[in-house]
This record gives sequence, structure tokens and C-alpha cells, in this order.
Amino acid sequence: MADTKYIFVTGGVVSSLGKGIISASIGKLLQSRGYNITIQKFDPYINIDPGTLNPYEHGECYVTVDGMETDLDLGHYERFTGIQTTKANSMTTGRIYKSVIDKERRGDYLGKTIQVVPHITDEIKRNIKLLGQKYHYDFVITEIGGTIGDIESAPFMEAIRQLKWELGKRAVNIHLTYVPYLKAAGELKTKPTQHSVKELQSIGIQPDILVLRTEKHLSNDVRKKVAAFCNVDLDCVVQCEDLPSIYEVPIDMQQQRLDEAILRKTGEPIGATPELGPWREFINRRKKAKDSVNIGLVGKYDLQDAYKSIRESLSHAGTYNDYKVNINFLNSEEITEANVAEKLAHQDGIVICPGFGQRGIEGKIIAAHYTRTHDIPTFGICLGMQMMVIEFARNVLGYADANSREMDEKTPHNVIDIMEEQKNISNMGGTMRLGAYECVLKQGSRVFDIYKRENIQERHRHRYEFNNEFQTEFEKHGMMCVGKNPESDLVEIVEIPGLKWYIGTQYHPEYQSTVLKPHPLFLDFIKKAIENKKK
Ligand code: GLN
Repeated sequence: MADTKYIFVTGGVVSSLGKGIISASIGKLLQSRGYNITIQKFDPYINIDPGTLNPYEHGECYVTVDGMETDLDLGHYERFTGIQTTKANSMTTGRIYKSVIDKERRGDYLGKTIQVVPHITDEIKRNIKLLGQKYHYDFVITEIGGTIGDIESAPFMEAIRQLKWELGKRAVNIHLTYVPYLKAAGELKTKPTQHSVKELQSIGIQPDILVLRTEKHLSNDVRKKVAAFCNVDLDCVVQCEDLPSIYEVPIDMQQQRLDEAILRKTGEPIGATPELGPWREFINRRKKAKDSVNIGLVGKYDLQDAYKSIRESLSHAGTYNDYKVNINFLNSEEITEANVAEKLAHQDGIVICPGFGQRGIEGKIIAAHYTRTHDIPTFGICLGMQMMVIEFARNVLGYADANSREMDEKTPHNVIDIMEEQKNISNMGGTMRLGAYECVLKQGSRVFDIYKRENIQERHRHRYEFNNEFQTEFEKHGMMCVGKNPESDLVEIVEIPGLKWYIGTQYHPEYQSTVLKPHPLFLDFIKKAIENKKK
């Protein structure tokens, strides 16, 4: 294909319509037609990245291989397409302004007054095109965060207007809206969609394709009405009904020929419809699974999106084990010695979640103690692994004051300590140990058995580490350090071999599980949880 084509995914009416899932589905469909694609997210907030945001503000922070803390939608892009994203796939208003201001300080603008138009919009346009120019992708899909009409997204919309004008057929806008059903009137209402499209048109953008989110099936008449009022071809008005799983969205979009509409609009030949074989197999397997396994997530954020990638990884692993996974959130702030048995009673496996700070950690330690002493399959991730280590130090090694330096600066039993290179860092943003690092697995360990190789690479996001001064003592008592970074000697994995499944990873395996390539640790953890249930 000669020139890169650009797809802009925007949203209207309300937020949380699933622009990320639609973008990922479009990526999946074009990829399966043999196109070389990438998906990027532009977020209109001022933060440089979401790394410093509370999960309640923004959900999980997804980490790319090259160590960028990004929006959770990048997780969807990777899980759907299997294509790794990088720093360049994520941009915020904060970074756009920073780059413009840095250029201004350098004198690059030769005495000009710096304005939103053209300087900020030019910087947005430059960044939108960057990946396409560098890697010659066939399609670059750009999802714009927020909702049309937001003050902060205005410069992004202006940049898209200009790009559409400059690129002609090489750019399409897919606008996602909502069609509410009014129960009292018994009707589906298209007016919010009409208004949302008017808003786009008023800033000079004519959407090419509309995706209507709806809880009820839309008749042809409703679609015709939307087409007529919004100047959009009827076959470019697609509906996206609620489906049992987000992974059914690409199939649904293919059935409605969304990918063909894109190809037609961009002047690409429309070849045979891809079969999506393995993808369909995954969905069929998911549907066929009858039995379910209960997994308790011990964490402090009572919000679906806060542990998005962990939830998805568990669910992938469930499918490949022919089980449904019921994920039960267990608030660690509410877990006490007195109620832990009752709270964990119906769980076949427990995940101790990542996190930062003191709040809720005692509950995590109590949960780790209970699952270790009752031999319930347990997976500790990042802070979760650290809590397993602290629990072991307190209750097996006998150090009642064992803790992490993060929570207690003075404890002599700092079994989790601050990393050497983190000691002099005072800025919070983007300064952790981030991204993919090597890890060498110990032959003969459980994890070696699971990964079936010695060298792995996993992604990190932390400041604290297992304190190697205590390694011999831990190992003497049965908690083994079975994965280490070959350069820094940092402990990446601990396990207790005698138990059914008691493994903690300093890294985040959840960032690497995809639909067609589920993560081996999650697969094995779910397998053991199922066995535990059967018993
Ligand atoms: N707070 C811990 C650290 O910084 C764990 C971080 C995490 O769970 N992502 O080391």
C-alpha cells in the first residue's frame, strides 16, 4: 500500500461507550486482512501520562514494553491485535504543550506568538503522523479520548479537521455515539446522535462512519433516519449492541461490514472476508464453558477498571481451561484476622493485587497468611508479591516488624527495600522501574516448569524490591527466589514449592496476556484453582 491512511475514532453523547474496544476491533479486522496497522490513543488531559493518576480517576495504568505508563485502552489494543504498543502510541495534552513550550524556550519559533492554532494543533498533527511516517503503516488508528464538545478536546478536533482536509480520502472519521432507549415511551432515541454529529459538523468535521452504541437492536428505519439526518451512507451506520463479551465485538463489526466501509472510504480494494478462525474458536470455547471457578481479587480499588488487565488475563486463562472465571472483588481494607476465613471461603484461588501505599496492606498480608496456611492457590502481583514476602518474614522467620520501606522507613527487617537507583529520586512521574526487563528462571522451579524456558521478559512498575540480604534465610525456610534479573540480581519471582500454587511476581504478567496468546502463569494458576475447586 502506498500511503499511510488515518482513521480517527471520536466519541459523542456520553463517555465510556467503548471507543477503545471499537478501535481495537477495527485494528483486529484490518490486521486480519493483511494490513500493517498500529493504534494510538490521544488523551486531552494535562497530565504528562496517567502514571500519577489515582485508579479511581482513570482506571488501571497500562505499561508498555518500553516503559511508558499509559491509558488502559492500550491494553485492549494489545490484547486484540497481539501487536505491542510503545511510548509513541500514547499522547496527552500535557506532552503536546510541553513539547511546544520546550521549542519556544529553545527559540525554534523565531519570535512568533505561540498560539493554540497553529502551534498546538500543528504539534498534534505532527504526533498523529509520526508513527505512520516512521514505520510506513498501512493504517494508523487514532482514538481521541473524551467526548466531542469538551473544551479540552477542541484542539484535537481542529487537528483532525485539518488532517481530513489535507489527506482527503486517506483520512476517515468514525464517530461513536449512544442511542438511548426510553422505557416510558418504548422508543429508541436518535436525537442525541444527531446533536453530536451536528457538533462535529459545526467544527468542520463530517463523520464518514457512525457506530451507534445501543442496548436494543436498531431497526433499519432507525439507521435510515440517522443516515439521512447526519449525511452518512446507510451502510456506514453500524450498530454496536451490548454483547456477552467484548471479544465478540470484532465479529459483530465484521458481520456489519465496518471494515469494508473503511476500505471503500479510503479507496482500498475489498478482498475476501477473513475467516478469523482462531478468534472464533476462542469465542466458541468461551461460550461452551459451563462450569466456573471463583477467583478472589484482594485489592483496595473497588472499581472494575482498576485491575483491568488482571481481570482480562484471568478470563483468557479461564477460556483456555474451558471454565468461566467468576472474579470476586475482596476489599483488602475490610479483611481482618477475624473475618478472613469467611471472606475467602468460596474462593478457589486468590490474586493479591498490585498497589501503592499503606492503605489496605494489612488485609493483603492477612489474606496471604490464610492462603499459605490453608494451601489455596495464590498469585501475588507486584505489591501482592511484596505482601507475600512480608507475611512470610513475620510468621515464618519470626520478624514481627518485617515490612517494606515504603510503609515503614525504620524497620530493621526491611525485607522489601527501596531500589538503590530509586533512593535519590524525588519526582513521582515516570521515575519508577518501568517496562520490560530480563528475568532468568531457576531450573527445576515451578515457574521454570510453567514457562518452559530459562529466559523471559516481563514488564515492571515499582520502586521497591526484595531485599537480597534476606534471601538465604527465606530459602532456608521454604520461600524460594526462583527468578532474577541477570544484570541487577533483583529478585523477580518467589514461590513456595510445597504448596499447590503460591507464586509472587515483582513484575506484571497481566500486561502480556492476549486473546490468542494467553499468559502461561495465568493459565497454570487457573488450572490449579480448578483442581482445588474439584477437591
Ligand atoms: N508499591 C510497590 C512498589 O513501588 C508496588 C508497586 C506495584 O504494585 N505496581 O514497589
